[in-house]
Amino acid sequence: DELVSQIAAGEVVERPASVVRELVDNALDAGATQVTVRLLAGGVRLVSVEDDGGGIAREELPLALRRHATSKITSLADLESVGTMGFRGEALAAIASVSELTLLSRTAEQSTAFMLEASSGELRPAARSVGTTVEVKELFFSTPARRKFLKTDATEMAHCLEAVRRHALARPDVGFAVWHEGRLVEQWRPATREQRLADVLGEDFVVQSVEVEHRMGPLRVTGRAGVPDAARSRADWQFAYVNGRYVRDRVLTHAARSAYEDVLHGQRNPVYALYVDIDPARVDVNVHPTKIEVRFRDSREVHQAVRHAIEYALAAPRA
Ligand code: ADP
Ligand code: MG
Repeated sequence: DELVSQIAAGEVVERPASVVRELVDNALDAGATQVTVRLLAGGVRLVSVEDDGGGIAREELPLALRRHATSKITSLADLESVGTMGFRGEALAAIASVSELTLLSRTAEQSTAFMLEASSGELRPAARSVGTTVEVKELFFSTPARRKFLKTDATEMAHCLEAVRRHALARPDVGFAVWHEGRLVEQWRPATREQRLADVLGEDFVVQSVEVEHRMGPLRVTGRAGVPDAARSRADWQFAYVNGRYVRDRVLTHAARSAYEDVLHGQRNPVYALYVDIDPARVDVNVHPTKIEVRFRDSREVHQAVRHAIEYALAAPRA
């Protein structure tokens, strides 16, 4: 089972940023309003994610680390319309198999928190307010072949920040803080989406972008698309969300690119933050363990909507 978990870890955990992604997903699923990420050595030595969500009950702590244990779906039918970020019950087990993981959590019903050390299974009372802290230390310490593939701390740190940024743009209502080596490197307070875009992508991006707002029946495409100057400043900023979930998707990327080519005649690296809201039954999120890929039931419909939405926004006279 340890081996199975380690193999699963290969699919879910590629680097510290993957740990950040999964732990922040869990914090958001738990209803957190504030998420604090602490990192040491780009996350290789430590990724700690602290939330003020509902917590995990003492007797549930060991279960949270078990493979395929999820509290989020109870039937196959639920898979058709998952509203939570996680649902496979794989992440914690996978991460625990390639690191030193501890869970510290307290529910509102408990007068004290409990701490579970994954390696020893030791469970003991501890101090904490309601919520959860997951600490992941020494990633890949027992799998040197995997550790070898990690880049410099600075590069891993950049990936970790990118992972938090993706969540921060999805959930402007949640506060985020990122600490590295004991220093606060980013802090985003709860805000409107517009304000969060400015906080995360910079005031420049907001000034140099246009609002995207388009509805095609139940399909909604909103967000902001950068005009040429913005694109020159940050070529790698292409954020796309489907029902609140960050995705990398060929259909969306291609649709956006086509819109830029049509309206601005070949802009190679458009900058945008796009939010696609679609009937959950028309998109499959259970395609890949990292849940970063999705499959649309009708990809032409989505392609057209996104392309049209951006074209319309870019072509409209600017206020
Ligand atoms: P999944 O998110 O797919 O259910 P995970 O392995 O990520 O699987 O987490 C396993 C379970 O542990 C979750 O279903 C949830 O019940 C619990 N859990 C993990 N992190 C948290 C958290 N930060 N707050 C509350 N519960 C959590
Ligand atoms: Mg999860």
